[in-house]
Amino acid sequence: MTIKENVAIILNEIPEGVQLVAAAKTVSPAKMMEAIDAGVRIIGENYVQEAEAARELVGDRAEWHFIGHLQTNKVRKAVRLFDMIETIDSIRIAREIDKWCARLGRTMPVLVEINSGREPQKSGILPEEAESLIREIAQFKHIKVSGLMTMGPRFGNPEDSRQYFIETRKVFESIKSLDLPRVEMKYLSMGMTNSYRIAIEEGANIVRIGSKIFG
Ligand SMILES: *Cc1c(COP(=O)(O)O)cnc(C)c1O
Repeated sequence: MTIKENVAIILNEIPEGVQLVAAAKTVSPAKMMEAIDAGVRIIGENYVQEAEAARELVGDRAEWHFIGHLQTNKVRKAVRLFDMIETIDSIRIAREIDKWCARLGRTMPVLVEINSGREPQKSGILPEEAESLIREIAQFKHIKVSGLMTMGPRFGNPEDSRQYFIETRKVFESIKSLDLPRVEMKYLSMGMTNSYRIAIEEGANIVRIGSKIFG
């Protein structure tokens, strides 16, 4: 199957209102362009350096979401390259984003990453920590809290992911119901190649798909 065919199948399958992020770690800009020509509107990148090179070629033909683990020393570059950062999990990284965005005179939409599987080695905050972190980072003028993201543990059977998506959705709804100032619970980013169908059933409106598009 070609990239074009893969994208067509996915776009045809996902409901309206669900955004597709083409997760493109280690993928060449030429392949990204193929995906964009087939209808992809958002590229997801895990690495700032890789995004920098890819953006030279792909430019503004797509929006760029950062979906990797962001290091403080990369924030300065990241705020120039990305339209959204999906993986905020500390006040420290949020403060750094705010600082560099202030210098550019821009506001960065961010998602807070939930470690829904409570896996010690994974990034993200625990579900019960989300509200207090969001209250804190909502203070930053150059950040717009726009929702939540989760990976969840990887399983052979995608059904096993469902409970982690349900739990993240609950956090999403509960924070939404608080109607916090400067917080918009708009996006819920969950589900990958293996699990995006389940994630959509459980309320995802952003899915991040890599191998099913790029092989
Ligand atoms: C790689 C990656 C994906 C896509 O994973 P696939 O299983 O290849 O679809 C989604 N989200 C993040 C954060 C990733 O790093």
